[in-house]
Amino acid sequence: MARARILPIFVPHLGCPNDCVFCDQKRISGSPLPADRLDVAAALEGARDQGLAGLELAFYGGSFTAVSPVLQRELLEAAQPYRRDGTVTAIRLSTRPDAVDGDILAFLKEYGVGTVELGAQSMDDAVLAASGRGHTAEDTVRAAELVKASGLRLILQMMTGLPGSDREKDVASARRIAALCPDGVRIYPTVIVRNTALEDMWRAGTYREHTVSDAVAVCADILPIFECAGIPVIRLGLNPTAELTAGGAVAGAYHPALGELVRSEVLRRRAAELLRDVPTGAAVRLFVAPNRVSAMTGQHRANVRALKEEFSLSDLTVKPAADAGEGIKIEVDVQPV
Ligand code: SF4
Repeated sequence: MARARILPIFVPHLGCPNDCVFCDQKRISGSPLPADRLDVAAALEGARDQGLAGLELAFYGGSFTAVSPVLQRELLEAAQPYRRDGTVTAIRLSTRPDAVDGDILAFLKEYGVGTVELGAQSMDDAVLAASGRGHTAEDTVRAAELVKASGLRLILQMMTGLPGSDREKDVASARRIAALCPDGVRIYPTVIVRNTALEDMWRAGTYREHTVSDAVAVCADILPIFECAGIPVIRLGLNPTAELTAGGAVAGAYHPALGELVRSEVLRRRAAELLRDVPTGAAVRLFVAPNRVSAMTGQHRANVRALKEEFSLSDLTVKPAADAGEGIKIEVDVQPV
């Protein structure tokens, strides 16, 4: 089934009682002003004028359910005429695990919210504390169970490379998040955004940057955990914005094609397993589904070069095969001695 087109409304920092060390929501969302009901109506009116229909309205960027109930109602009310005429067919929002309870979820359902995204970020309490999250892993477990029990779709967001974390802790968090059986996850490797507490920590040497290659390594551990559990990874890496690209992202795992780099690394590791017993000097053909040829090959042929060198192959080519499915098929020509 095709996914509905998302119409995002950013509610930067709106209602958030917190200051997570990595967060500058104004900069991350690219929208400096908190949204109000007029913004919602204007965005939807514009969409309707363009003849768009069947949209999913998404309140992103802040902690929606920590906003005053009056404003929550106002924002959701503004969407109702557009639900009735079919411009909007679904509503989703993101919030904090400690800003969710049974009454709030019932209220959201009443206004047509179908999906709640919870910022879990880590399932390690020491990492959460070092990151200034202001909630515990147990809050996430409780909130996730409540969302699922209410019949709403649950998306969990996690981060890698937070203060106090390491590869092992990030992988452990991913396993605990997968065990909560969300309908999807987003993975955001930590980016150091200008004018955040994290930037200060990094400049003071109390936080070590989570580089793009750190992020690729840990996310290539994590991605298969969700894939094996049948949980879609709907986003990997922060959405690029003009501000972040123009210097707002001062360091960390900011790369416009991070997801592709991670998928490529997962395939490189799988291919390496298959090549382990291939004799030196062999010519190898790897067959993957047509839409995975570029990931298998790697950016600038990085996988082909690395595998060829690691296993001393005379040749390595990647070819499309409609019947490869999720796997990799291999053909080997051994050179006569
Ligand atoms: S809870 Fe969300 S909005 Fe609030 S400071 Fe943390 S990341 Fe930013």
